Amino acid sequence: MEQKGKLFIVGFGPGHFEHITARAKEALQESDMIIGYKTYVELIQGLIDDQEIVSTGMTEEVSRAQEAVKQAERGKKVAVISSGDAGVYGMAGLVFEVLIEKGWKEETGVAVEIIPGISAINSCASLLGAPVMHDACTISLSDHLTPWSLIEKRVEAAAQADFVIALYNPKSGRRTRQIVETQKILLKYRDPKTPVGLVKSAYRERQQVVITNLEEMLDHDIGMLTTVIIGNSSTFLYDGKMITPRGYQRKYTLNSEKQRLKPHQRLSREAEPWALSQEDETGESQTGNERKESTMAALLPPKSKTDANDSLELALEALGMVDKEERSAEKSFITAGQPIESIFELAVSPGVANKRFTPEQMITLAEVVGSNGSMEYTPNHQIVLRIPTTDPDMVTEKLHSAGFLLMPIGDVLTVKACDFCDGEKAESIPYAEELQERLGGMALPKEMNIGFNGCGMACYKAVMEDIGIVYRKGKFDLFLGAKPAGRTAHPAQPVAEGIEPDQLVDLVADIIEFYQEKGHPNERFYKFFKRVKEIKGFKHQEIAPKIKLEPAPCGE
Ligand code: SAH
Repeated sequence: MEQKGKLFIVGFGPGHFEHITARAKEALQESDMIIGYKTYVELIQGLIDDQEIVSTGMTEEVSRAQEAVKQAERGKKVAVISSGDAGVYGMAGLVFEVLIEKGWKEETGVAVEIIPGISAINSCASLLGAPVMHDACTISLSDHLTPWSLIEKRVEAAAQADFVIALYNPKSGRRTRQIVETQKILLKYRDPKTPVGLVKSAYRERQQVVITNLEEMLDHDIGMLTTVIIGNSSTFLYDGKMITPRGYQRKYTLNSEKQRLKPHQRLSREAEPWALSQEDETGESQTGNERKESTMAALLPPKSKTDANDSLELALEALGMVDKEERSAEKSFITAGQPIESIFELAVSPGVANKRFTPEQMITLAEVVGSNGSMEYTPNHQIVLRIPTTDPDMVTEKLHSAGFLLMPIGDVLTVKACDFCDGEKAESIPYAEELQERLGGMALPKEMNIGFNGCGMACYKAVMEDIGIVYRKGKFDLFLGAKPAGRTAHPAQPVAEGIEPDQLVDLVADIIEFYQEKGHPNERFYKFFKRVKEIKGFKHQEIAPKIKLEPAPCGE
């Protein structure tokens, strides 16, 4: 029987030897014949020994595919090469088209193995930073085989849907208008400042990487070997890199400190106001949080809407917006990325010493939090607010004018003071307020509390905080490094008595700045004190526990 040949359809990646897969190399070695576009054959020259080479011009793809099939049918092992991935605007589809025309079937025909390669969208993205983190698409601007009217439609749809877009074949000697028209369409939907990356000859000798933006992209060199990557509405630049965040959920925080959602918070409903509800009739797919909410719901008067309805409304609202955009796209500048609701997270209290909320303040809270936000009462004498909003400034303005003290949350410094016996012991309040003003909200390796008490009773348990300050006979006593929680909890160590009031704030600031600078990420202050042994002249005392306690983390 006649020996059947084999077709390897090989993507060799962007062009550098190191980015060719091991399987691709093996296939090239195994082949009797290599067929490809001249430039590509040159790029893989180093991998070729005595294989027969058929290299043709760029426009001769069909004849290359036909030749490959013919040779394989004659019993040869033939490698058809494409740059990047052969299945992305490459030779793979063409080879199949030729095979199909001949009635090829996998079972009876020549063997076909397709070997994947790194496509330009990936290789170019890697040189730009991380621009393709979210939903993305590739669009070839070549209208040789695709009508321009269809390409235009795809650009429009992708722009509208806020895809990150990789434009292949953006421009050639003769095709120069396509990229100009494409930019025009994109500018209808995206901000002119949207980051754009231009990568020419990625991982080849003449590699060029340019980061620009949508309105200025045409001022740079774009050619046949360029891939253009257009960011989505949340793509940003950082240190010369183009980054698309993994999701849309950017959080607003006071002081713009970065405080990410903890994993368990990510799934909570208020953190994802746009998600379609997963609640089913049996309740089986509920998360812990949602279950907790349902239990609460049973205790509360019935809500006017169910969660499922909320989600449906959100979805309909979103669809309505898209619809509107479609109709008004010609007229106005709209973005699929128009302001996207994010969670604004902050803590409020009536003041450092003041523990009394006024009814007006409670009304303001209810108004700004609305039915989609949440309020959480915490052990730090604060209420943490999480509010989906597009306008955090308006929220802070309202809260400020209601007389609230606003604080960021997360790994920051919180000043917790006693109520100074409702102001009877008021002499030290200004120092607590100065500490708050100067240090409150400062970003630290780990959350940190200063406990500030107005008399030696220390009834608000100042000595159980990271830093304890107790006012006594016109002066201050200082305590450092409590471990406030756990089975091995312990109070802070008394390190100084009788500190003069005018020295207090500077001294505490020095201690905290030292911790800020030298603390390891996530290292609580008591651990830091233990590790460094001395802070600003105050020595750590080892206290040996009487018995050794087994560690017992939460949940065990
Ligand atoms: N099969 C290839 C794409 C071929 S179409 C792949 O998967 O990458 C040709 C287009 O690919 C070029 O116009 C350019 O837009 C892009 N391209 C291919 N190799 C590239 C490289 N090394 N650097 C930048 N763009 C490249």
